Amino acid sequence: MSDTSENTLPGTAELAERARRALAACGAAGYEGSGPNALSARSPITGQDLFTVAGGTGSDAHEAIAAAGAAFPAWRDTPAPVRGALVKRLGELLTEHKQDLADLVTIEAGKIGSEALGEVQEMIDICDLAVGMSRQLEGRTLASERPGHKLLETWHPLGVVGVISAFNFPVAVWAWNTAVALVCGDTVVWKPSELTPLTALASTALLERAIADTGAPEGVHRLVLGGADAAAPLVDSPDVPLVSATGSERMGREIAPRIAARFGRAILELGGNNAAIVTPSADLDLAARGIVFSAAGTAGQRCTTMRRLIVHEDVADELVARLAKVYTGLNIGDPFSEETLVGPLVGERAHAAMRTALERAVADGGEVVAGGGRRLAGAAQDAYYVEPAIVRMPGQTDVVKEETFAPILYVLTYRAFDEALALHNDVPQGLSSSVFTTDQREADRFTASAGSDCGIANVNIGTSGAEIGGAFGGEKTTGGGRESGSDAWRGYMRRATNTVNYSTELPLAQGVNFG
Ligand code: NAD
Repeated sequence: MSDTSENTLPGTAELAERARRALAACGAAGYEGSGPNALSARSPITGQDLFTVAGGTGSDAHEAIAAAGAAFPAWRDTPAPVRGALVKRLGELLTEHKQDLADLVTIEAGKIGSEALGEVQEMIDICDLAVGMSRQLEGRTLASERPGHKLLETWHPLGVVGVISAFNFPVAVWAWNTAVALVCGDTVVWKPSELTPLTALASTALLERAIADTGAPEGVHRLVLGGADAAAPLVDSPDVPLVSATGSERMGREIAPRIAARFGRAILELGGNNAAIVTPSADLDLAARGIVFSAAGTAGQRCTTMRRLIVHEDVADELVARLAKVYTGLNIGDPFSEETLVGPLVGERAHAAMRTALERAVADGGEVVAGGGRRLAGAAQDAYYVEPAIVRMPGQTDVVKEETFAPILYVLTYRAFDEALALHNDVPQGLSSSVFTTDQREADRFTASAGSDCGIANVNIGTSGAEIGGAFGGEKTTGGGRESGSDAWRGYMRRATNTVNYSTELPLAQGVNFG
């Protein structure tokens, strides 16, 4: 495995300076702070703290909910295309500050430059989509059974939307939710991951500029920094009709019953355990490229990362050999270096989880055929750079059925396509999936009802890297939420059925006669 970045990691002071510059360019100021709620802004590139920022508490979240609630009536009553003008301005500012925000994504989440720019591009894309949506929020006219009546379905803003987001898409997931919620007439309170406060401060500063430039009510968006405690009011307050939460299954299990207990609505975007089936007819060159990007890219830290490869036994040896060869050539190291394809894990816990999973896999009879080791520990002992691993497994054991948020690809083999589908669906999660095949029948079976049970089912591309035009989300323990494109906007609005009588009679439905 080449290691061009050994001993060439940037220094922590340099990273801190770069972060401060990017924040200033985005218009963020006065964020550094101390005290009991202060958060460490840390970079996984060196594993060191950059500086501390003022954090929030549950009472800050209550205040934020009150401010967003107070702004709601005026925002609800603003015509949707005018609301779209705010999101349009946000998209312009994101375009202007694309590199600043991408630098912060690299510094805080460890994403390589190209993926960080891609994440910001996704924000710009969702703004474009939401601006168009703002002129297309639509209802329906249905046939009434009564003469002189019309039956309508209309959609209305919900109120305050609480957005809780994960470290690995520190800004795109906020934009998916916020751009759509704002054009839908909702106001937003955002609690980002405690691991990524800087990207949140910069994004919020840009939105605040857009709010000032367009004259939107100042309280349409509020940011609350902190951990689970700071998010608690979003989860529990009856003044937050919708919580859109992205993160681990563990987090979802904690908050979903609390939101349900107050009859709130939730959009849950939780963990995945995404697989690709590779059939004997597959174009193996194309499959190998798609698999490496999905399995090793982002150091295995995407919700859609490919974690399982279910490959026909006739092509398994050849495909695994090809993948292992590519894996040995992956550049691992400084995510700011253009040579690098795999940046750091987010921290020590992720590394420990990877090691434990590999030990369990080996204890289950697995064979590590590539990677798995740690890199650059000499250059930065608190940073966790790892070699993406490929492990051939004798079967789908418990460890394979869990999401380990690190780059481990488990390889399983099959003989019959039915067996591959059964293995594919035999995990608790249901986010993303793909099949590599040139056999039309297999492709269609995979995407049919009895095929993949995931929210995303692809053919001849990997599991990660979704476009924003489609609805994004997954089934089973992934939580069932949908965000982004298509009609996902409906999740951010409430539906009303309106019966309008424009006659002079009062006929009752179902022919009921009441005197
Ligand atoms: P995490 O669950 O540790 O944290 C996510 C967010 O939830 C953070 O903001 C955290 O502060 C908050 N949180 C945690 N416990 C909470 C509680 N009890 N109450 C309120 N808020 C709470 O997840 P992470 O490590 O930041 O992110 C990685 C996970 O997110 C992976 O499982 C990944 O698959 C998942 N993810 C899913 C999607 C998706 O769209 N399905 C997208 C990105 C990440």
